[in-house]
Amino acid sequence: MILLDKISKQYKDGTKALQNVSIEVEPGEFVYLRGKNGSGKSTLLKILFGQEKVSRGRVSVSGYDVTLMKNNRIHELRRKMGFVFQDFQLLQYKTVYENIAYVLEVTDHPVDEIRHRVVEALETVGLKHKVFDYPSNCSGGEQQRIAIARAIVHNPTILLADEPTGNLDPHTAYGILKLLHKINQSGTTVIMATHDQSFLDKIPSRIIELDNGFVSKDRSKNHTMLLLSSRMGEQYVI
Ligand code: ADP
Ligand code: MG
Repeated sequence: MILLDKISKQYKDGTKALQNVSIEVEPGEFVYLRGKNGSGKSTLLKILFGQEKVSRGRVSVSGYDVTLMKNNRIHELRRKMGFVFQDFQLLQYKTVYENIAYVLEVTDHPVDEIRHRVVEALETVGLKHKVFDYPSNCSGGEQQRIAIARAIVHNPTILLADEPTGNLDPHTAYGILKLLHKINQSGTTVIMATHDQSFLDKIPSRIIELDNGFVSKDRSKNHTMLLLSSRMGEQYVI
């Protein structure tokens, strides 16, 4: 369960990135976080990941009160989460195997278990045959699949994806979208930020829209408007 209760985020330079945002996400949901560049999507994901602090409001993720958390507990929370970036962020001098295994090595898993889990994650993303390749020998779509394998190898309960299809052509992007939905179907909560709405109707799901740091829409899969505006600090259900 993710709960954002009237959160605001103001950066040190005065930029108001999020304003009075209230959102509830149930376990197992798939949410598109939509909005133009600069609308606050990345800030919101970073807050959920414990990477940025809110200026006001309360954040609760999987029972952790992120607002009050100390650093060691943030690492504990992050072990329940995976993060996928627009630019993949793979280490080019490491093999595909090493890029993924690294996540488990820092948390002291036995070697056999690491091997098993890496292969399983690569199977999920359809790239088992690339295990000993280097990222530079993989296409953009393949690199994003490897990054997704890295994000799910520790079986997170929540997967955050920040514009994961932003660097990909429409066909490859659709493949990544399908993969994220497949991961969601196995029970993982997925929140995917995107400024591109052209392909979201292909696999409908809840859409939360940010506009200038405000929630401007919260539309469930069956198109019920859950929340019209957070500007007034009130919720309207239609
Ligand atoms: P999005 O991901 O939707 O493009 P961001 O969350 O990156 O939006 O940014 C929201 C607003 O906050 C923008 O105006 C951006 O310039 C600003 N911003 C983002 N990160 C920082 C930062 N570290 N310091 C100051 N302003 C920032
Ligand atoms: Mg962003």
